[in-house]
Amino acid sequence: MVRVPTKLVTWDEIVEWSMGLAETIKRRGFKPDIVIAVSRGGYVPARLICDFLLVDNLISLQSQHWTEAAKVAEKALIKFPYKVDLSGLRALLVDDIVDTGDTLILAKDFIASEWNPKDLKIAALQWISPVAKIKPDFYYIEVKEWIWFQYPWTRHEDTTQFIKRILLEKKEIKREWSYNEIKTEFEESYGIFVGDAYFKLALNTLVELGILEKKNDVFVIKMT
Ligand code: ADP
Repeated sequence: MVRVPTKLVTWDEIVEWSMGLAETIKRRGFKPDIVIAVSRGGYVPARLICDFLLVDNLISLQSQHWTEAAKVAEKALIKFPYKVDLSGLRALLVDDIVDTGDTLILAKDFIASEWNPKDLKIAALQWISPVAKIKPDFYYIEVKEWIWFQYPWTRHEDTTQFIKRILLEKKEIKREWSYNEIKTEFEESYGIFVGDAYFKLALNTLVELGILEKKNDVFVIKMT
């Protein structure tokens, strides 16, 4: 049973998609003087875009979602609202994916009003068109059905979360799991395999976090 539609994205695909995105930007005649990565997801694509378009100037802005106490309302915030002067410069804001687009809209508005660039355009590797509140000026892939893209830069974090979700859901019926049982359950639930190195790292993290306990060859879910 696949519970969350998930696609594992490889490093090779990231290079291919970033190269394709850079080609689109070039073909459309936009020549950025500076690239701004939306932190954290935009870092790798932004660095590659700098390479492909031969741009020297790269900075970043952290825009992210905060869950408020009630967990009902979520709003995006600029985490470190520092000030730089971009007057006279053409800026390109780069992110990995535009999902709801909230964090990107916030970053764009902040940059336009606080940093004052001559021009400001948005580029993203992927754009989830049915749900996004904003269409990036440049994108490489239009995603027509929502899916979770398991990017290489969140592999440890996502694997840890996914394993935790699976095991905690089943904790009342099964508390002791072998490595292979967890792996099989993970693959059936998410339809991807992240490789043994990431899998072991994530399991170690869950032990360090006190969610699992390792007893000989089995992982035991700790009851809190
Ligand atoms: P939101 O504002 O809903 O968090 P954004 O579209 O602003 O959504 O995305 C914020 C960041 O969350 C993205 O830059 C990306 O790193 C991550 N993200 C959002 N949706 C996905 C997805 N479907 N697959 C992988 N990562 C995602």
